[in-house]
Amino acid sequence: PYNFSAGPAMLPAAVLQRAQEELRSWRGSGISVMEISHRDPAFMQMAFKAEQDLRDLMAIPDNYQVLFMHGGGRGQFTAVPQNIAGPNDTVDYLNGGIWSDFAIREAQKFVAKVNVIGGVIDTDLGRALTPVAQWQLSEDAAYVHYCPNETVDGLALHTIPEVAAPLVVDMSSNILSEPLPVDKFGIIYAGAQKNIGPSGFAIAIVRDDLLGRAQGTTSTIMDYTVQAKERSMYNTPNTWAWYLSGLVFEWLKEQGGVAAMGELNQRKANLLYQYIDSSDFYSNPVHPDFRSKMNVPFLLADAQLDSEFLAQAEKQGLLGLKGHRYVGGMRASIYNAMPLEGVETLVSFMREFEQKHA
Ligand code: PLP
Repeated sequence: PYNFSAGPAMLPAAVLQRAQEELRSWRGSGISVMEISHRDPAFMQMAFKAEQDLRDLMAIPDNYQVLFMHGGGRGQFTAVPQNIAGPNDTVDYLNGGIWSDFAIREAQKFVAKVNVIGGVIDTDLGRALTPVAQWQLSEDAAYVHYCPNETVDGLALHTIPEVAAPLVVDMSSNILSEPLPVDKFGIIYAGAQKNIGPSGFAIAIVRDDLLGRAQGTTSTIMDYTVQAKERSMYNTPNTWAWYLSGLVFEWLKEQGGVAAMGELNQRKANLLYQYIDSSDFYSNPVHPDFRSKMNVPFLLADAQLDSEFLAQAEKQGLLGLKGHRYVGGMRASIYNAMPLEGVETLVSFMREFEQKHA
């Protein structure tokens, strides 16, 4: 089957096969990687190789720490304000969709003011984001936060804004999907369960000058400075998630890295959007310049056919196409692990379904 779920999402078949083979005996130990101490030299070697592979893949400069954190994407919603803003500070957030909204509500608990700099706007060509030039930035924000790929809304910001304060980005659903100039950002974070590995795990890439600023009440496991000092092993990390993420990084390197992924992801997205745009039966509500390459929401002209569409799709092995419960409709998530053939199969199915029901 092809799994179009937004997350937890499809993992590369080769990664799952290798994990399965190694589950009985990891590196000849006779036990699985989940049963080995995180202080064991073999585990640490694997863990630090995974970090190095991620550094290689994303070309992460040396003045950034790579942290393997607990608590998924939402864990970072709480970690960011507590780590790099004081309780009396103002922080700037773009409210570009559902996940940004959750991030804002979390930040409000830890700082004096969350200033919303812009949000979702309606245009003649569909839903879009406030143009960067019109963002209502504060003069003294501790940081500027946005989510470049809103997973539920299928809305993306494809340009990197130039702002004075450190830029913090939630890349839960688009990390590693294309090349990225890491040095434009203060913090890049991502919940793992879309383009990296298992859920409940997160990666935070933090520029060194932002360390040492945590509020005194920050819980220790969420403290970037402590986690950086302890190489993400302040407490027992999620060893299974770390291991699987490492396998995904190795797989990504074998595929040609993020440059190759970027090209493939563009082809997959083009194929799906072009078909949706050519049809009167399906529609996508997003302005072409703001369309996500990872999450493609679409509506059927007749919503009464939704359940029939999903049932038929599932019968053909096309899984996870139901839209998020907040917005309804359909959504195809086409992360790195989704091959081009998966999108081709989906488009053929959509065409057949249209011919039958239009
Ligand atoms: N941010 C984005 C962009 C997401 O898509 C998600 C989850 O799907 C989250 C944050 C929350 O992640 P988690 O469920 O790991 O807390």
